[in-house]
Amino acid sequence: MSRLTTKDVQQLQTLLGSDRVLTGESELSIHSRDESHHPEHKPDAVIYPQDATEVSKILRWANEHKIPVTAWGAGTSLEANPVPVHGGIVLDLSRMNQILAIYPEDLQAVVQPGVNRVLFNQKLAHSGLFFPPDPGAECTIGGMVANNAAGIQAIKYGATKDYLLALEVVLASGEILRVGNRALRTSSGYDLVHLFVGSEGTLGIFTEITVRVAGIPKEVSAATAAFPTLEQAAQAVVQIVQSGLEPAALELLDPECIYAINYLKNLSLALQPTLFLEFRAHALEVVRDDLRFAQEICEHNGCTSFSSALGREERDKLWEGRHHLAYAAAALNPGKRAIVVDVAVPISHFPEMVAFARQKLSEQSLQGPVFGHAGDGNFHVAIFYNPEDLQEKARAQAVNEAIVFRALALGGTATGEHGVGVGKIKFMRAEHGASYDLMRQIKRLLDPHNILNPGKLFSTI
Ligand SMILES: Cc1cc2nc3c(=O)[nH]c(=O)nc-3n(C[C@H](O)[C@H](O)[C@H](O)COP(=O)(O)OP(=O)(O)OC[C@H]3O[C@@H](n4cnc5c(N)ncnc54)[C@H](O)[C@@H]3O)c2cc1C
Repeated sequence: MSRLTTKDVQQLQTLLGSDRVLTGESELSIHSRDESHHPEHKPDAVIYPQDATEVSKILRWANEHKIPVTAWGAGTSLEANPVPVHGGIVLDLSRMNQILAIYPEDLQAVVQPGVNRVLFNQKLAHSGLFFPPDPGAECTIGGMVANNAAGIQAIKYGATKDYLLALEVVLASGEILRVGNRALRTSSGYDLVHLFVGSEGTLGIFTEITVRVAGIPKEVSAATAAFPTLEQAAQAVVQIVQSGLEPAALELLDPECIYAINYLKNLSLALQPTLFLEFRAHALEVVRDDLRFAQEICEHNGCTSFSSALGREERDKLWEGRHHLAYAAAALNPGKRAIVVDVAVPISHFPEMVAFARQKLSEQSLQGPVFGHAGDGNFHVAIFYNPEDLQEKARAQAVNEAIVFRALALGGTATGEHGVGVGKIKFMRAEHGASYDLMRQIKRLLDPHNILNPGKLFSTI
């Protein structure tokens, strides 16, 4: 794999125009790290393509010269997914940000990859619609497809993969390919659309994305439920899910998280393990009934306070606090970095997993808020460590590894929603066995020179 030379940059500028191929220090720096603890790597140049034809030209050129190309959406990943670890070109898709069509009668939309998730939802709301996958961050639809982002509403609505119908994707060779269609069902051959979901920019660059969207339910009601122990809260989660209730969100937060949210949003929630729940329906009686049933289950599991009469303002504050929890926790741990655990297990093992994670943290005398999309059996621990203290960093890594291997032993996954990036490569063999080799063969077939986001999903191909 090669780095870009000055001559290469000049060639690219001739191909695309000098204002489009940028090598200024601040551009390189902005595109050298995501929101994770992983080290930064600067690209040699940043290019902002404007359409699929330009993406195709760039990839054709890069493939010929064996130059790495790493796609960039908004850089909000948590495993260095868009960080150009081998330098080369960062392809920033943020200028391909048009909503190309909304089909309200079909509940579908077609977007360019750089469309911002929040702005997309604002536009859809005019038609009474929304795009349900909600990772909280200000990310792009292209980045969500590439990471198969999920978030707090996935328990009811599913992850990004469940909304994807078709893609226009540019392959490493420069070929522009269309996969999928707008039919809601198809049994027509291999499912190539979903091959690209979660591929983290290693198989092709998406230039057009067709998705399903959903109608906004009329009634929304949220509640908080506080418990004496995290284990009781986790047990309540299992029973809520097993009861057949379908919350639109079911989040678990430990007292450290509650402290951070209180601090961030000026709230005064009790510093106890807490569930945030939300129900949505088209009739008020339905959400009220659901909340009553959820309250019974929580109380049966020792809940000491269940608050469901939340006003709109308080509910918005809760969810904003939950969305910005990572930043609040970081602000409370100045100078530290965090390894973010992202395991998911079958729901019956959720309480055991949470207890295991807390035990491992305490054995290593480490701090780390435990939180997560509990209803999906997915949880996070932000394991804070001092980057100057190599022993502490090693202890944090040991806790992360122990949690991941336990999740795998219970039939779970190393990453429920953040993707592999560089941080989870070491678990891929244990998780996938021989099918990891099949993934590598697919990568070699589509990208034989390994120019697309090299160093992700595989250390080498
Ligand atoms: C505070 C915070 C909270 C978060 N919470 C959640 C959460 O609850 N759930 C969740 O799932 N995630 C969460 N995330 C992670 C992150 O927001 C998501 O993974 C998001 O989908 C990343 O999108 P992005 O636009 O920032 O993409 P980037 O980070 O820029 O890129 C992500 C990956 O996609 C590739 N890529 C980008 N665009 C394209 C394209 N057009 N074609 C091909 N590949 C492309 C990149 O190369 C990279 O591998 C959170 C992040 C933060 C900072």
